[in-house]
Amino acid sequence: MTRKPGPGRCVHCLKHVEKRNWDHVFPVGWYPDSTPQNLEKWKIPTCKPCNDEYGRLEEDFGQILSFCVDPRRPEAQGVYKRMLRAYDPRYGKNHKDRKIREAKRRKLLEKMMHGDDIPNQGIYPGLGERWNRDRKDQVALTIPKRYVDRLGIKIVRGIAFLEDGIFVEDDYEIEPYAVEADGAKVFEDAIAQHGHSFSRGPGIVVDRAVAEEDGISSIYKITIWGQLIMYLSILPRDE
Ligand SMILES: [Zn+2]
Repeated sequence: MTRKPGPGRCVHCLKHVEKRNWDHVFPVGWYPDSTPQNLEKWKIPTCKPCNDEYGRLEEDFGQILSFCVDPRRPEAQGVYKRMLRAYDPRYGKNHKDRKIREAKRRKLLEKMMHGDDIPNQGIYPGLGERWNRDRKDQVALTIPKRYVDRLGIKIVRGIAFLEDGIFVEDDYEIEPYAVEADGAKVFEDAIAQHGHSFSRGPGIVVDRAVAEEDGISSIYKITIWGQLIMYLSILPRDE
């Protein structure tokens, strides 16, 4: 799939453009080392502005998220170590690059919350304290909600295109939900009954159930690195 996709619609913004690129549905740098080699990765045709915007978002998001997951899990193997390099001046290619990495590291440490500074609310489901550390030893980072929502929407659009060949048009809405176990039950039940599972190695698993009536309305469960779980729906937009 090295040749460019040529003119056509962008899967993200739906515009017709002359030149399109292949965009990775699951960011290429996010595949863990446990991914089988020679696995064909999910790619969709997109316009350059969308591709660039997602590229920046995913770089930042991937780094923050890799600090929030358990790096010992095989689903996340090697990711944290790789992402950490962006904050390590020793990997700088030259003086300027070393300075940039050093500054990123300083900024990250400033943003890190410790012990009692960590709020009790707004903790992303599944990403709370999992190591039974004392409160004073816990650390936390803020993940912009926009990052989680945008990535979820991207994966939903990507799977709908790859599996069904459809663009999710404006008369449908893709909605992300951040839910705890109780709220997830309705999604889990539907997926257990009608769902199909798609994956590209252990790092990314997408389960979805599609309504028979229109073949588009659906619910999605996206699991990244075996730990971050996102639920989304595609539903007809209210008039
Ligand atoms: Zn676009």
